[in-house]
Amino acid sequence: MASGKLQAPRGTFDVLPADGRRRDRLRALADDLLGRAGYGPFESPVFEDTDLFARGVGVSTDIVQKEMFTFEDKGGRSLTLRPEGTAGACRAYVEHGMHKQPQPVKLRYWGPFFRHEAPQAGRYRQFAQIGAEALGSDDPSLDAESILLLDGLLERSGVQRRLRLSSLGNADTRVAYGERLRAHLREREAELSAEVRGRIDANPLRAFDSDHEGTRAVMEQAPRLIDRLDPDDAEHFAEVRALLDDAGVAYELDPTLVRGLDYYTRTVFEFESSSLGAQSGVGGGGRYDGLVEQLGGPPTPGVGWAAGVERILLAGSTAPARESPVFVAIAGEEHRRAAFAIAREIREAGLAAQVEQAGRSMKGQLKHAGRMEASAVVIVGHGIEVKDMSTGEQVSVADAREAVAVVAGESAAR
Ligand code: AMP
Repeated sequence: MASGKLQAPRGTFDVLPADGRRRDRLRALADDLLGRAGYGPFESPVFEDTDLFARGVGVSTDIVQKEMFTFEDKGGRSLTLRPEGTAGACRAYVEHGMHKQPQPVKLRYWGPFFRHEAPQAGRYRQFAQIGAEALGSDDPSLDAESILLLDGLLERSGVQRRLRLSSLGNADTRVAYGERLRAHLREREAELSAEVRGRIDANPLRAFDSDHEGTRAVMEQAPRLIDRLDPDDAEHFAEVRALLDDAGVAYELDPTLVRGLDYYTRTVFEFESSSLGAQSGVGGGGRYDGLVEQLGGPPTPGVGWAAGVERILLAGSTAPARESPVFVAIAGEEHRRAAFAIAREIREAGLAAQVEQAGRSMKGQLKHAGRMEASAVVIVGHGIEVKDMSTGEQVSVADAREAVAVVAGESAAR
Protein backbone atom coordinates (compact mmCIF):
# COMPACT_ATOMS: atom_id res chain seq x y z
CA MET A 1 0.00 0.00 0.00
CA ALA A 2 1.31 3.46 -0.93
CA SER A 3 2.24 5.69 1.97
CA GLY A 4 0.16 8.71 0.86
CA LYS A 5 -1.37 11.20 3.23
CA LEU A 6 -4.47 9.80 4.89
CA GLN A 7 -7.60 11.89 4.48
CA ALA A 8 -11.29 11.53 5.21
CA PRO A 9 -12.99 9.94 2.16
CA ARG A 10 -14.35 12.17 -0.59
CA GLY A 11 -17.66 13.80 0.35
CA THR A 12 -17.17 13.23 4.10
CA PHE A 13 -15.96 15.55 6.86
CA ASP A 14 -14.81 15.55 10.45
CA VAL A 15 -16.74 17.43 13.10
CA LEU A 16 -14.28 19.38 15.24
CA PRO A 17 -15.32 20.69 18.68
CA ALA A 18 -16.17 24.27 17.59
CA ASP A 19 -18.61 22.93 15.02
CA GLY A 20 -19.61 20.09 17.30
CA ARG A 21 -20.84 22.59 19.89
CA ARG A 22 -23.20 24.10 17.30
CA ARG A 23 -24.41 20.61 16.44
CA ASP A 24 -24.95 19.86 20.14
CA ARG A 25 -27.04 23.01 20.46
CA LEU A 26 -29.13 22.16 17.40
CA ARG A 27 -29.68 18.64 18.61
CA ALA A 28 -30.82 19.83 22.04
CA LEU A 29 -33.22 22.24 20.36
CA ALA A 30 -34.66 19.52 18.11
CA ASP A 31 -35.00 17.05 20.99
CA ASP A 32 -36.79 19.66 23.05
CA LEU A 33 -39.18 20.83 20.33
CA LEU A 34 -40.07 17.35 19.10
CA GLY A 35 -40.07 15.84 22.58
CA ARG A 36 -42.66 18.33 23.76
CA ALA A 37 -44.93 17.28 20.85
CA GLY A 38 -44.73 13.64 21.93
CA TYR A 39 -41.99 12.42 19.58
CA GLY A 40 -39.94 9.73 21.33
CA PRO A 41 -36.25 9.06 20.66
CA PHE A 42 -35.72 6.45 17.96
CA GLU A 43 -32.63 4.85 16.44
CA SER A 44 -32.28 2.27 13.71
CA PRO A 45 -29.18 0.64 12.20
CA VAL A 46 -27.11 2.66 9.74
CA PHE A 47 -27.23 -0.31 7.37
CA GLU A 48 -30.26 -2.33 6.36
CA ASP A 49 -31.14 -5.01 3.80
CA THR A 50 -30.86 -3.42 0.37
CA ASP A 51 -34.34 -4.70 -0.35
CA LEU A 52 -35.83 -2.34 2.26
CA PHE A 53 -34.79 0.71 0.25
CA ALA A 54 -35.57 -0.87 -3.12
CA ARG A 55 -39.12 -1.55 -1.89
CA GLY A 56 -39.49 1.42 0.41
CA VAL A 57 -37.86 4.30 -1.48
CA GLY A 58 -38.70 2.97 -4.94
CA VAL A 59 -36.59 1.29 -7.63
CA SER A 60 -37.04 4.11 -10.13
CA THR A 61 -35.79 6.88 -7.82
CA ASP A 62 -32.36 8.53 -8.20
CA ILE A 63 -31.51 7.41 -4.68
CA VAL A 64 -31.96 3.72 -5.43
CA GLN A 65 -30.69 3.83 -9.00
CA LYS A 66 -27.54 5.86 -8.50
CA GLU A 67 -26.81 6.93 -4.95
CA MET A 68 -26.74 3.97 -2.60
CA PHE A 69 -23.64 2.63 -0.90
CA THR A 70 -24.40 -1.07 -1.30
CA PHE A 71 -22.12 -3.92 -0.28
CA GLU A 72 -22.18 -7.63 0.38
CA ASP A 73 -21.51 -8.90 3.87
CA LYS A 74 -19.49 -12.06 4.55
CA GLY A 75 -22.63 -14.17 4.28
CA GLY A 76 -23.36 -12.86 0.79
CA ARG A 77 -26.30 -10.68 1.88
CA SER A 78 -26.76 -7.36 0.11
CA LEU A 79 -26.71 -4.50 2.61
CA THR A 80 -26.98 -0.74 2.07
CA LEU A 81 -25.91 2.25 4.16
CA ARG A 82 -29.21 4.01 4.80
CA PRO A 83 -29.86 6.88 2.37
CA GLU A 84 -32.90 8.12 4.33
CA GLY A 85 -34.74 7.35 7.56
CA THR A 86 -38.41 6.78 6.81
CA ALA A 87 -38.08 3.26 5.40
CA GLY A 88 -36.15 2.10 8.50
CA ALA A 89 -38.71 3.69 10.84
CA CYS A 90 -41.54 1.91 9.03
CA ARG A 91 -39.64 -1.39 9.08
CA ALA A 92 -39.18 -1.02 12.83
CA TYR A 93 -42.87 -0.12 13.30
CA VAL A 94 -43.85 -3.40 11.64
CA GLU A 95 -41.09 -5.51 13.22
CA HIS A 96 -41.98 -4.41 16.76
CA GLY A 97 -45.75 -4.53 16.31
CA MET A 98 -46.05 -0.83 17.12
CA HIS A 99 -49.54 -0.79 15.57
CA LYS A 100 -50.65 -2.37 18.88
CA GLN A 101 -49.53 0.70 20.83
CA PRO A 102 -51.72 3.78 21.18
CA GLN A 103 -51.68 5.65 17.85
CA PRO A 104 -50.15 7.77 16.50
CA VAL A 105 -46.66 6.51 17.29
CA LYS A 106 -44.31 9.49 17.04
CA LEU A 107 -40.59 8.99 16.50
CA ARG A 108 -37.69 11.45 16.30
CA TYR A 109 -34.16 10.69 15.18
CA TRP A 110 -30.78 12.23 14.48
CA GLY A 111 -27.92 10.47 12.74
CA PRO A 112 -25.76 9.84 9.69
CA PHE A 113 -27.13 9.09 6.23
CA PHE A 114 -25.26 8.16 3.07
CA ARG A 115 -25.75 9.03 -0.58
CA HIS A 116 -23.23 8.63 -3.37
CA GLU A 117 -23.68 12.10 -4.87
CA ALA A 118 -21.19 14.50 -6.43
CA PRO A 119 -19.89 16.47 -3.43
CA GLN A 120 -20.30 20.25 -3.36
CA ALA A 121 -21.10 22.91 -0.76
CA GLY A 122 -23.97 21.55 1.32
CA ARG A 123 -23.92 18.18 -0.42
CA TYR A 124 -21.96 15.32 1.09
CA ARG A 125 -21.77 11.55 0.85
CA GLN A 126 -22.20 11.23 4.60
CA PHE A 127 -24.44 13.85 6.18
CA ALA A 128 -26.63 14.06 9.25
CA GLN A 129 -30.38 14.40 9.30
CA ILE A 130 -32.86 15.28 12.00
CA GLY A 131 -36.10 13.45 11.34
CA ALA A 132 -39.62 13.05 12.71
CA GLU A 133 -42.18 10.41 11.77
CA ALA A 134 -45.76 10.02 13.02
CA LEU A 135 -47.38 6.68 12.21
CA GLY A 136 -50.86 5.31 12.64
CA SER A 137 -53.15 8.28 11.99
CA ASP A 138 -54.25 10.13 8.88
CA ASP A 139 -55.54 13.11 10.86
CA PRO A 140 -54.66 16.28 8.91
CA SER A 141 -53.58 17.93 12.16
CA LEU A 142 -50.60 15.57 12.17
CA ASP A 143 -49.52 16.87 8.77
CA ALA A 144 -49.87 20.45 10.00
CA GLU A 145 -48.15 19.70 13.30
CA SER A 146 -45.27 18.03 11.51
CA ILE A 147 -44.78 21.02 9.18
CA LEU A 148 -45.04 23.47 12.08
CA LEU A 149 -42.44 21.58 14.09
CA LEU A 150 -39.93 21.80 11.26
CA ASP A 151 -40.83 25.45 10.72
CA GLY A 152 -40.26 26.09 14.44
CA LEU A 153 -36.92 24.30 14.39
CA LEU A 154 -35.75 26.36 11.41
CA GLU A 155 -37.07 29.58 12.96
CA ARG A 156 -35.20 28.95 16.19
CA SER A 157 -32.07 28.06 14.23
CA GLY A 158 -32.17 31.41 12.43
CA VAL A 159 -32.84 29.94 8.98
CA GLN A 160 -34.52 32.26 6.43
CA ARG A 161 -36.83 30.02 4.46
CA ARG A 162 -39.78 29.54 2.17
CA LEU A 163 -42.23 26.67 2.37
CA ARG A 164 -43.51 24.91 -0.73
CA LEU A 165 -46.60 22.79 -0.24
CA SER A 166 -48.69 20.46 -2.37
CA SER A 167 -50.81 17.33 -2.30
CA LEU A 168 -50.21 14.21 -4.37
CA GLY A 169 -53.56 12.55 -3.58
CA ASN A 170 -53.85 8.81 -3.04
CA ALA A 171 -52.23 5.93 -4.90
CA ASP A 172 -55.18 5.49 -7.31
CA THR A 173 -55.22 9.18 -8.16
CA ARG A 174 -51.51 9.02 -8.79
CA VAL A 175 -51.84 6.00 -11.08
CA ALA A 176 -54.62 7.61 -13.11
CA TYR A 177 -52.75 10.90 -13.19
CA GLY A 178 -49.54 9.10 -14.17
CA GLU A 179 -51.33 7.76 -17.25
CA ARG A 180 -52.55 11.22 -18.26
CA LEU A 181 -49.11 12.68 -17.70
CA ARG A 182 -47.45 9.90 -19.73
CA ALA A 183 -49.85 10.61 -22.60
CA HIS A 184 -48.92 14.30 -22.43
CA LEU A 185 -45.19 13.49 -22.37
CA ARG A 186 -45.47 11.06 -25.28
CA GLU A 187 -47.33 13.61 -27.36
CA ARG A 188 -44.39 15.99 -27.00
CA GLU A 189 -41.61 13.45 -26.60
CA ALA A 190 -39.29 15.14 -29.11
CA GLU A 191 -39.03 18.25 -26.91
CA LEU A 192 -37.93 16.36 -23.79
CA SER A 193 -34.45 15.68 -22.43
CA ALA A 194 -33.10 12.18 -23.01
CA GLU A 195 -33.22 11.48 -19.26
CA VAL A 196 -36.88 12.41 -18.94
CA ARG A 197 -37.71 10.48 -22.14
CA GLY A 198 -36.07 7.41 -20.65
CA ARG A 199 -38.25 7.67 -17.55
CA ILE A 200 -41.68 8.31 -19.08
CA ASP A 201 -42.81 4.82 -18.14
CA ALA A 202 -41.02 4.39 -14.83
CA ASN A 203 -41.48 7.79 -13.20
CA PRO A 204 -43.14 10.51 -15.29
CA LEU A 205 -43.60 12.78 -12.23
CA ARG A 206 -39.87 13.39 -12.05
CA ALA A 207 -40.14 15.37 -15.30
CA PHE A 208 -41.29 18.27 -13.08
CA ASP A 209 -37.82 18.33 -11.48
CA SER A 210 -35.98 18.77 -14.78
CA ASP A 211 -33.87 21.87 -15.51
CA HIS A 212 -33.90 21.11 -19.25
CA GLU A 213 -35.47 24.02 -21.13
CA GLY A 214 -37.54 22.00 -23.58
CA THR A 215 -38.81 19.76 -20.80
CA ARG A 216 -39.78 22.74 -18.70
CA ALA A 217 -41.86 24.19 -21.52
CA VAL A 218 -43.67 20.86 -21.88
CA MET A 219 -44.24 20.66 -18.12
CA GLU A 220 -45.74 24.13 -17.94
CA GLN A 221 -48.63 22.85 -19.98
CA ALA A 222 -48.84 19.45 -18.31
CA PRO A 223 -52.03 18.42 -16.51
CA ARG A 224 -51.74 19.10 -12.76
CA LEU A 225 -52.38 16.45 -10.16
CA ILE A 226 -53.62 18.99 -7.67
CA ASP A 227 -56.62 19.73 -9.94
CA ARG A 228 -57.57 16.05 -9.96
CA LEU A 229 -57.61 15.13 -6.27
CA ASP A 230 -60.40 12.89 -4.96
CA PRO A 231 -62.88 14.82 -2.77
CA ASP A 232 -61.49 13.11 0.38
CA ASP A 233 -57.94 14.10 -0.43
CA ALA A 234 -58.95 17.63 -1.43
CA GLU A 235 -60.76 18.00 1.91
CA HIS A 236 -57.78 16.60 3.80
CA PHE A 237 -55.48 19.08 2.09
CA ALA A 238 -57.86 21.97 2.77
CA GLU A 239 -57.83 21.07 6.47
CA VAL A 240 -54.01 20.94 6.56
CA ARG A 241 -53.91 24.39 4.95
CA ALA A 242 -56.51 25.80 7.33
CA LEU A 243 -54.41 24.70 10.31
CA LEU A 244 -51.28 26.23 8.79
CA ASP A 245 -53.22 29.44 8.13
CA ASP A 246 -54.39 29.49 11.76
CA ALA A 247 -50.77 29.19 12.85
CA GLY A 248 -49.82 32.11 10.61
CA VAL A 249 -47.31 30.14 8.56
CA ALA A 250 -46.78 31.37 5.01
CA TYR A 251 -46.49 28.82 2.20
CA GLU A 252 -46.60 28.66 -1.57
CA LEU A 253 -48.86 26.14 -3.20
CA ASP A 254 -46.61 24.48 -5.72
CA PRO A 255 -48.25 21.79 -7.85
CA THR A 256 -44.88 20.95 -9.43
CA LEU A 257 -43.47 19.82 -6.09
CA VAL A 258 -42.58 16.17 -6.46
CA ARG A 259 -40.15 14.90 -3.92
CA GLY A 260 -37.44 12.50 -5.01
CA LEU A 261 -38.95 9.50 -3.24
CA ASP A 262 -41.77 7.29 -4.47
CA TYR A 263 -43.67 6.71 -1.27
CA TYR A 264 -45.44 10.02 -0.82
CA THR A 265 -49.23 10.40 -0.84
CA ARG A 266 -51.39 13.44 -0.02
CA THR A 267 -49.39 16.23 1.69
CA VAL A 268 -45.84 16.96 0.48
CA PHE A 269 -43.71 19.92 1.53
CA GLU A 270 -40.24 21.31 1.32
CA PHE A 271 -38.44 24.17 3.04
CA GLU A 272 -35.86 26.03 0.96
CA SER A 273 -33.37 28.66 1.95
CA SER A 274 -32.00 31.15 -0.54
CA SER A 275 -28.83 31.52 1.52
CA LEU A 276 -27.83 28.00 0.50
CA GLY A 277 -27.24 28.51 -3.23
CA ALA A 278 -27.69 25.52 -5.51
CA GLN A 279 -28.46 23.01 -2.75
CA SER A 280 -31.36 25.04 -1.42
CA GLY A 281 -33.40 22.31 0.29
CA VAL A 282 -33.09 22.42 4.08
CA GLY A 283 -35.73 19.88 4.87
CA GLY A 284 -38.88 18.31 3.61
CA GLY A 285 -41.28 15.46 3.84
CA GLY A 286 -44.87 14.47 3.56
CA ARG A 287 -47.45 11.78 4.04
CA TYR A 288 -46.78 8.16 3.10
CA ASP A 289 -50.02 6.30 3.73
CA GLY A 290 -49.07 3.19 1.71
CA LEU A 291 -45.51 2.63 2.84
CA VAL A 292 -45.96 0.45 5.92
CA GLU A 293 -48.26 -1.90 4.00
CA GLN A 294 -45.81 -1.99 1.12
CA LEU A 295 -43.19 -3.19 3.57
CA GLY A 296 -45.39 -6.04 4.73
CA GLY A 297 -47.23 -4.39 7.64
CA PRO A 298 -50.90 -3.61 8.25
CA PRO A 299 -52.37 -0.65 6.32
CA THR A 300 -50.97 2.29 8.30
CA PRO A 301 -50.93 5.98 7.44
CA GLY A 302 -47.87 8.05 8.28
CA VAL A 303 -46.39 11.50 7.87
CA GLY A 304 -42.91 12.88 8.53
CA TRP A 305 -39.88 14.86 7.45
CA ALA A 306 -36.13 14.97 7.47
CA ALA A 307 -33.90 18.03 7.58
CA GLY A 308 -30.19 18.31 6.85
CA VAL A 309 -28.11 19.18 9.92
CA GLU A 310 -25.23 20.67 7.91
CA ARG A 311 -27.61 22.77 5.80
CA ILE A 312 -29.43 24.14 8.86
CA LEU A 313 -26.06 25.16 10.32
CA LEU A 314 -24.89 26.64 7.00
CA ALA A 315 -28.06 28.65 6.46
CA GLY A 316 -28.75 29.58 10.06
CA SER A 317 -27.13 31.18 13.08
CA THR A 318 -27.11 28.44 15.70
CA ALA A 319 -24.74 29.59 18.45
CA PRO A 320 -22.30 27.06 19.87
CA ALA A 321 -23.27 25.57 23.22
CA ARG A 322 -21.12 27.53 25.75
CA GLU A 323 -19.44 25.96 28.67
CA SER A 324 -17.74 28.88 30.58
CA PRO A 325 -15.79 26.56 32.87
CA VAL A 326 -14.04 27.41 36.08
CA PHE A 327 -10.30 27.17 35.55
CA VAL A 328 -8.14 25.85 38.37
CA ALA A 329 -4.63 27.31 38.16
CA ILE A 330 -1.61 25.80 39.90
CA ALA A 331 0.82 28.14 41.65
CA GLY A 332 3.71 25.73 42.16
CA GLU A 333 4.34 22.04 41.46
CA GLU A 334 3.58 20.97 45.06
CA HIS A 335 -0.06 22.10 44.72
CA ARG A 336 -0.99 19.85 41.77
CA ARG A 337 -2.90 17.29 43.82
CA ALA A 338 -4.85 19.91 45.75
CA ALA A 339 -5.74 21.68 42.47
CA PHE A 340 -6.79 18.41 40.83
CA ALA A 341 -9.09 17.67 43.80
CA ILE A 342 -10.66 21.14 43.70
CA ALA A 343 -11.46 20.78 39.97
CA ARG A 344 -13.16 17.46 40.74
CA GLU A 345 -15.18 18.97 43.60
CA ILE A 346 -16.33 21.86 41.42
CA ARG A 347 -17.57 19.36 38.82
CA GLU A 348 -19.31 17.39 41.56
CA ALA A 349 -21.10 20.61 42.50
CA GLY A 350 -22.52 20.57 38.95
CA LEU A 351 -20.26 23.13 37.26
CA ALA A 352 -17.76 22.78 34.44
CA ALA A 353 -14.15 22.86 35.60
CA GLN A 354 -10.73 22.34 34.06
CA VAL A 355 -7.38 22.17 35.80
CA GLU A 356 -4.00 23.20 34.37
CA GLN A 357 -2.54 20.18 32.56
CA ALA A 358 0.17 21.54 30.27
CA GLY A 359 2.78 22.96 32.68
CA ARG A 360 2.13 26.66 31.86
CA SER A 361 3.49 29.57 33.89
CA MET A 362 0.94 31.49 36.03
CA LYS A 363 0.79 34.18 33.35
CA GLY A 364 0.25 31.52 30.71
CA GLN A 365 -2.47 29.88 32.81
CA LEU A 366 -4.40 33.13 33.22
CA LYS A 367 -4.15 33.76 29.49
CA HIS A 368 -5.37 30.22 28.83
CA ALA A 369 -8.31 30.77 31.23
CA GLY A 370 -9.21 33.96 29.33
CA ARG A 371 -9.11 32.16 25.99
CA MET A 372 -11.52 29.47 27.17
CA GLU A 373 -13.82 32.23 28.51
CA ALA A 374 -13.56 30.84 32.03
CA SER A 375 -16.11 32.35 34.42
CA ALA A 376 -13.65 32.22 37.32
CA VAL A 377 -10.12 31.11 38.10
CA VAL A 378 -9.27 29.32 41.34
CA ILE A 379 -5.56 29.82 42.04
CA VAL A 380 -4.19 27.06 44.23
CA GLY A 381 -0.92 27.83 46.05
CA HIS A 382 -0.07 28.17 49.72
CA GLY A 383 -3.45 29.84 50.02
CA ILE A 384 -6.44 29.67 47.67
CA GLU A 385 -7.65 32.70 45.69
CA VAL A 386 -10.74 32.97 43.54
CA LYS A 387 -10.76 35.45 40.68
CA ASP A 388 -14.09 36.42 39.11
CA MET A 389 -13.26 36.81 35.43
CA SER A 390 -16.16 39.12 34.62
CA THR A 391 -15.37 41.70 37.34
CA GLY A 392 -11.64 40.95 37.78
CA GLU A 393 -12.22 40.86 41.56
CA GLN A 394 -10.02 38.47 43.50
CA VAL A 395 -10.77 37.09 47.00
CA SER A 396 -8.89 34.78 49.36
CA VAL A 397 -10.79 31.77 50.68
CA ALA A 398 -10.04 29.57 53.64
CA ASP A 399 -10.16 26.16 51.99
CA ALA A 400 -11.30 24.10 49.00
CA ARG A 401 -14.89 23.95 50.27
CA GLU A 402 -15.16 27.70 50.41
CA ALA A 403 -13.58 27.96 46.92
CA VAL A 404 -16.27 25.65 45.54
CA ALA A 405 -19.00 27.61 47.36
CA VAL A 406 -17.70 30.91 45.96
CA VAL A 407 -17.52 29.75 42.32
CA ALA A 408 -20.90 28.03 42.65
CA GLY A 409 -22.36 31.22 44.07
CA GLU A 410 -20.82 33.26 41.30
CA SER A 411 -22.26 31.05 38.61
CA ALA A 412 -25.68 31.10 40.31
CA ALA A 413 -25.57 34.90 40.47
CA ARG A 414 -24.93 35.21 36.72
P1 AMP B 1 -34.47 14.26 1.31
O1 AMP B 1 -34.62 12.97 2.05
O2 AMP B 1 -33.75 14.11 -0.01
O3 AMP B 1 -35.70 15.06 1.23
O4 AMP B 1 -33.45 15.11 2.18
C1 AMP B 1 -33.86 15.79 3.33
C2 AMP B 1 -32.82 16.82 3.68
O5 AMP B 1 -31.57 16.19 3.92
C3 AMP B 1 -32.54 17.80 2.56
O6 AMP B 1 -33.44 18.87 2.58
C4 AMP B 1 -31.14 18.25 2.91
O7 AMP B 1 -31.17 19.26 3.90
C5 AMP B 1 -30.53 17.02 3.50
N1 AMP B 1 -29.71 16.30 2.48
C6 AMP B 1 -30.12 15.43 1.54
N2 AMP B 1 -29.09 14.97 0.82
C7 AMP B 1 -27.98 15.55 1.32
C8 AMP B 1 -26.58 15.48 1.01
N3 AMP B 1 -26.11 14.69 0.05
N4 AMP B 1 -25.73 16.24 1.75
C9 AMP B 1 -26.18 17.04 2.75
N5 AMP B 1 -27.48 17.14 3.08
C10 AMP B 1 -28.37 16.40 2.38
